[in-house]
Amino acid sequence: MKRSRPLRRKPKRPEPKRQEPDAIDLRSTDDDPVVQGILTAISQKRLKPGAKLGEDKLAKAFGTTRIHIRQALSHLASRKVVMQIPNRGAFVYRPSWEEAKDILAARRVIETATVSAAIDRLDKAGRAELKAHMELEARHDRNDRWASLSLTAEFHVLVAKLAGNRVLLEMSRELMLRTSLAIATFEQPGEPDCLPDAHPDIGALILARDKASAIDAMRHHIEEMEQRIRPKEGADEVDELTAIFREIDARGRAGG
Ligand SMILES: [Zn+2]
Repeated sequence: MKRSRPLRRKPKRPEPKRQEPDAIDLRSTDDDPVVQGILTAISQKRLKPGAKLGEDKLAKAFGTTRIHIRQALSHLASRKVVMQIPNRGAFVYRPSWEEAKDILAARRVIETATVSAAIDRLDKAGRAELKAHMELEARHDRNDRWASLSLTAEFHVLVAKLAGNRVLLEMSRELMLRTSLAIATFEQPGEPDCLPDAHPDIGALILARDKASAIDAMRHHIEEMEQRIRPKEGADEVDELTAIFREIDARGRAGG
C-alpha cells in the first residue's frame, strides 16, 4: 500500500536569493510532497472546505519555497480541490450543493463499473491484496478517526485498481477526494465518508465473484452517502468564502 510521504521536508538546496527555483515537473506533480500533504489533510478532513491556504504558512510548514507552494496550489486548483481567487489567495474547494450531489451520483456510476470490472479481472494477487486490506480494516481501531478515513478511502481506490483501468483509477481517486469535500461541506463536521460495515460485505462478494450482489452492495453503499448529505441553509454557514461568492454574485448581477 502506498504511504504518503512525510509532510516536512527540507528543500533539496538552499533557496536562491534572486533566482527562482526550477519549475516542478508537471508529470510528477501528484507525487510532490506538498500536493500529497494537502491531499492527505483534505481526505482526512483536517483541512476543511473553505479553509484558507496561506502561502507563507504552508511554505514554513513544508520547509519549502513560496514558489513551490504556489505551483502545488495551482496543480490542486486544476484538480478542483483548491480554489484560487485573485487578490484573495487559495482556499480548500467548497462544492455547491448541486455539485456535491453530482459528485456522489458520478461515484455511483463509476464504482458500480469498477466493482464489476474488478470481479472480471480478479486473480490470485488481487484476491490476496483485497483480503489483506479487509483484514487491515477489520483490525483497525475505529477511534483513530484520521487513519480510518484514509483506510476506508483506500478500499475504494483498491477496487478501482483491481479493475485494471488506469483512467477509471484516476477518476476514482479524484471522485474520492471530491466526495470528502462534499461530505465535509454538507454533513456534520468529522463524519466518516463511509459507513463502517459496508466494506466487509462488498469485499466478500467480490471474492465470491458474485457480480450482481457486489454491484448492488456498492450502489447501496454510495446511495447511503448520498442520503446523508443535506443542503445547508441559514446564517451559521457564512464564512469568508461564502462571503466572497456572495460578493462575486452581487457584482455579476450589478454588471449584467
Ligand atoms: Zn466505503
